[in-house]
Amino acid sequence: MDAPVSEIDAIRSAILEGAPGDELGSLPVPASYRGAVVRADEQEMFAGVASEDKDPRKSVHIDEVPVPELAPDEAYVAVMASSINFNTVWTAIFEPLPTFQFLARLGKESVWGARHDQPFHVIGSDAAGVVLRVGSAVRRWRPGDAVTVHCNYVDDQDPSAHDDSMLAANQRIWGFESNYGGLAEIALVRANQLMPKPAHLTWEEAAVNALCNSTSYRMIVSPHGAQMTQGQSVLVWGATGGIGAYACQYVLNGGGTPVGVVSSADKVGLLHELGVEHVIDRRAEGYRFWSDEHTQDPGEWRRLGKKIRDLSGADPDIVFEHPGRQTMGASVFVCKRGGMVITCAATSGYTIEYDNRYLWMMLKTIKGSHFANYREAWAANQLICDGKIQPTLSRVFPLEETGAAAYQVHHNLHEGKLGVLALAPEEGLGVTDPERREQLLPQITLFRRHDA
Ligand code: NDP
Repeated sequence: MDAPVSEIDAIRSAILEGAPGDELGSLPVPASYRGAVVRADEQEMFAGVASEDKDPRKSVHIDEVPVPELAPDEAYVAVMASSINFNTVWTAIFEPLPTFQFLARLGKESVWGARHDQPFHVIGSDAAGVVLRVGSAVRRWRPGDAVTVHCNYVDDQDPSAHDDSMLAANQRIWGFESNYGGLAEIALVRANQLMPKPAHLTWEEAAVNALCNSTSYRMIVSPHGAQMTQGQSVLVWGATGGIGAYACQYVLNGGGTPVGVVSSADKVGLLHELGVEHVIDRRAEGYRFWSDEHTQDPGEWRRLGKKIRDLSGADPDIVFEHPGRQTMGASVFVCKRGGMVITCAATSGYTIEYDNRYLWMMLKTIKGSHFANYREAWAANQLICDGKIQPTLSRVFPLEETGAAAYQVHHNLHEGKLGVLALAPEEGLGVTDPERREQLLPQITLFRRHDA
């Protein structure tokens, strides 16, 4: 006699067989599911350990967790694939704060918020999959819809969310500042996080984009960001990394000139293949912007500025900044008179120092940016659907190896994005527009082929 099929396996099989939405919607939702979690009782496990030695392989577990109740404006998504973001690393090393503090705060907001305050945190801020159930107030989506999920988690009953929802007083990043994220078999999302899955991409290719692609769209393209115009030059730090590789594509698409900074000859080659002509290998150049822990070296800023001018013939109108403490002094210095340093992060340290004379005397601007509102995320997703922005997937891991995948990103051993398979049993599934895929295959698989 055949072994009984679990409810989660029945869902997986129905999706793989292309079952219609009503059939999927009538399958029982399991009482629990497997997700990548950090545990509250382990949040002190790395006390006294240096950041680089905090190991996500020790802190990220695959646990069975209960399926939370569904609120009227929410959906359950059967997650076929997800991705590692740098916030996966932050969560896994409990820096700058353990995320349980975020969950506790959300837990105090409402009855529905209370579901999030748990001794486990299901992590992950990206997902591609299929809608399994929708709450009674959901209008645009139904079971069976193939979707990607963006991570802007906003209460649309808050008036401050209605100009630019990134300005909402209670804006959060799903799967980082909320529970039940995407690195799991099932995700709990608000309906206003859903976007159509690009039909020409596999589950894992579709899963890696939303967070980084939308962030770079807002920073480079949106009026809320730098709103680059044709002919402008943009210095992109970490140009083959999660957000940098999308930033380079936006600069190229918009008629700008990217100057990419990376840290190996291999990455230089990858950027050339992406179409970025001007590339700086920061490791080969040996920049030392800080001569010691407390002192920056303006001579090194100048050396970088000269290199950029030699390559592109101009100072950058825009600097796409995220490394933070290590590079911000240089970024402010090399930025063109009247230009903009746009920043969304501080990977190397968030206490920033720069010489303010180069800012005010040269009329430069530093602008903060954070993820993207729904309209921006939707526009960025549409560009992927249209084949105008390509996924930067380089490697794929099974859910069980989420911690190992986060380790790769923590130690900068990756290029582009790392995908994680959840319900998808193997890579290569989920394509419903094979013709478009065939046309775009070399671009879609560039990072993958490069990594192989
Ligand atoms: P990745 O690790 O994928 O890429 C970042 C790249 O930056 C690295 O590959 C590295 O490239 C470069 N880099 C790292 N440290 C330094 C340094 N000290 N000096 C110069 N370059 C450096 O990360 P992501 O691109 O996904 O994310 C980058 C940062 O942005 C993270 O801190 C993340 O948390 C944040 N982020 C913020 C978002 C927001 O909405 N606010 C959204 C997405 C990300 P190389 O070695 O080749 O130079």
